[in-house]
Amino acid sequence: MSDSTEHTHVTVLGSATVVPEGDQDTACLLVNDDHMIDTGWNAAINMTRYGADPLAVDYLFITHCHHDHYIGLPQLLFVHAMRRSRRPDRPPLTVIGPKPDIGMVVDRALSFLRAEQFPSVNTKPHVVALQAGDSFTTPRFEVTTAPTVHPVVGLCYRFRDLQTGASLAVTGDTAYRLPLADHVRGVDLLIHEASRGACASDPNAKGGHSGSIDAARIALAGEVGRLGLIHYPSAARQEILAAACEVFPETVALVEGDRIELP
Ligand SMILES: [Zn+2]
Ligand SMILES: [Zn+2]
Repeated sequence: MSDSTEHTHVTVLGSATVVPEGDQDTACLLVNDDHMIDTGWNAAINMTRYGADPLAVDYLFITHCHHDHYIGLPQLLFVHAMRRSRRPDRPPLTVIGPKPDIGMVVDRALSFLRAEQFPSVNTKPHVVALQAGDSFTTPRFEVTTAPTVHPVVGLCYRFRDLQTGASLAVTGDTAYRLPLADHVRGVDLLIHEASRGACASDPNAKGGHSGSIDAARIALAGEVGRLGLIHYPSAARQEILAAACEVFPETVALVEGDRIELP
């Protein structure tokens, strides 16, 4: 767990959609070094690139079980298993995600690692399957959830820092859904997807994604402190940022390696 005097900080380990683009891994966030949200393709490796230790992750929150959000899970589990001797006092990784998909994904990650044949990699993570509306508490955060609009069940997470009172929300993939503004209301930082680019997207369109104007409208309606855009096409970064800023000026388009301090 992080130093209790430390303000919450968020490190961006990826901001791309579906597959990594250039130097951008897919959506992956690290909160205070020990809480991760989605894994991207290369979460474990990227942590070391940005000065973090993969073994320090105690809680992994998966927003939804599309591949670009959990494809790095086997690697993270493998690193934890191989280096377990360095942290014998720590509990196994806790993986939190939407019911019912998260249990299946963790089981299959362990199958991919052939955990039953190789006892050295059989570090069974603790799985917490949530439904929208459920909450979960770690030593540092109270986490509440709301449903997203996407082809698979997804959770928008809201984190409240129990020590500083700072707050953060992460939508995962979702079409524009105005009730999300109530769930994220007043957070210091909202991280919202913008897969559709510099537009307001049809919320009923196939795929269930937002444009950056949708994200900005949620930020505005929810009266959040700052908006961070993620899960967007890298080539359109300037356009999506400009379009969002017209609606909600306190917006940044996140890129891998960014570090944001919360109050
Ligand atoms: Zn998705
Ligand atoms: Zn995605």
